[in-house]
Amino acid sequence: MSTKASVRKTSAANSREHSVDEIAEKISAAILEHRLAPGTKLGEDRLAAIFATSRAKVREVLARLAHEQIVELVPQKGAFVAKPTIEQAQDVFEARRLIEPGVLRRLVRTLDDVKRQRLRRHIDLEAEARSRDDKRAIVRLSGEFHVLLAELAGNSALARSMRELSALTCLIISLYDAPTATSCRADEHEEIVAAVNRGDAQRAEKLMLHHLDHIEQSLKLDSSAEEADLESVFS
Ligand SMILES: [Zn+2]
Repeated sequence: MSTKASVRKTSAANSREHSVDEIAEKISAAILEHRLAPGTKLGEDRLAAIFATSRAKVREVLARLAHEQIVELVPQKGAFVAKPTIEQAQDVFEARRLIEPGVLRRLVRTLDDVKRQRLRRHIDLEAEARSRDDKRAIVRLSGEFHVLLAELAGNSALARSMRELSALTCLIISLYDAPTATSCRADEHEEIVAAVNRGDAQRAEKLMLHHLDHIEQSLKLDSSAEEADLESVFS
């Protein structure tokens, strides 16, 4: 599917005026579900027409997404879906290795029945998405799992950082992964949750570090990596 087609497809359901929140959410979802490739130009006029809104509102949306680092604003050229470099990608994984073990330690300390249920529910949603081979849902839920851990751990600063890192990881996977691969292995989230439920923080941390290694290893982040084949991502 061409990028133009995917932008138009987004417009199908838009007949009334949307809020900044709604438009930001729709564009963000299209990027994080890999329907809009990194580097895609996000023209103000086209987006204003698609969402039947003003350019001023579109600019506000783009500024917000730029703040979340999934959109890049280039002076004189406009807005583009962010395209992290290999160095930035490696920085993201280094940050995640530092943050996520701490998230799990905090989560194990504060775990209660409500949190257990939220984790169970999420694992079930991931399994359902995999059973119907819904690739968009799998990609989205994989990222959301890590954000959920940080939210349930109860530290708002960590949760905010994790949201940003998860979104960047999603872009990185879109750029540097094989087109058919997904970000997270099927069984690894479940193993992490099982360790958390047992109160075994050490095991959970270890599993998380392995999990992050697996994601990073599945990408082509060595210096010899060429430009990713973006078209094939949408084929
Ligand atoms: Zn994962």
